Amino acid sequence: MKPMKIYKSGIHLGEEKVIEGNQSSGMITFTGCHLACNFCYTPETSIYDIGSDYSAEAFSRLVEDLVMRGARNLNLISPTHFWSTLSRPLLKIKLNYGRLLPLVLKISGFESPETLHGMSSLGDIIVPDFKVFSSESARSVNLPLTYGKTAQRSLEILMKTHGFSHYTDSGKLTHGLLVRHLMMPGFLDDSLEVVRAMAAVKYTGYINFMTYFIDPKVRQVTNANPDEVFILSTSAEKAGMKVLINGKLPQSSVAFRQGASAHGS
Ligand code: SF4
Repeated sequence: MKPMKIYKSGIHLGEEKVIEGNQSSGMITFTGCHLACNFCYTPETSIYDIGSDYSAEAFSRLVEDLVMRGARNLNLISPTHFWSTLSRPLLKIKLNYGRLLPLVLKISGFESPETLHGMSSLGDIIVPDFKVFSSESARSVNLPLTYGKTAQRSLEILMKTHGFSHYTDSGKLTHGLLVRHLMMPGFLDDSLEVVRAMAAVKYTGYINFMTYFIDPKVRQVTNANPDEVFILSTSAEKAGMKVLINGKLPQSSVAFRQGASAHGS
């Protein structure tokens, strides 16, 4: 079985405030990645392979330590390539904690159907990326040419296997899906295609548009043009999605009203 390698772990604020436990999130970032996006701003993990090996037992101890330090959820970043090793300790953790420690899985959107089924059965909140749609865009950022279609299929599978949403009384998501999309400079047309692809499979859950693009070569942030953010978020709202901007509900839009009263997508 493939040993796990972990880059870092700790208690952090999760980006999306709507996710239960994100006020004190037990984050674990895995080393390595099954993709090689040219915009990746964590090359320490995806390219340079920095991290420490963990057995299943050591992983379980790490989770216990995070819980002792106040973790309110378990937030696994890029777990896909270790999924076959992770599923056994995660099953035990789920049996121990159940809904007291929601399991959040941040994944690339480029997973096999088998892996997605496994993730659906163990995860509470699944957060797939939907990075680009067209094969031309995929090529330009060094993603597989089939990325867009695969991400759409992944979303469809997750909607079937994990699609219902469940919230606490205070409106925090405890079970369901939340899609992430990074707005990249010059990619508005493709971002609109991503929204259309999600609408085509009738996705009406949360979509978080991340509007800060970090150039990995110079670590410089480019913020998306506000007009483009408006165009994109309006298009997602019109398709019935619950829009977040950088993890927060927009304050003055249809999305805010929908999100504020969202109970069951
Ligand atoms: S999927 Fe994420 S971690 Fe992997 S290469 Fe792309 S941006 Fe980096």
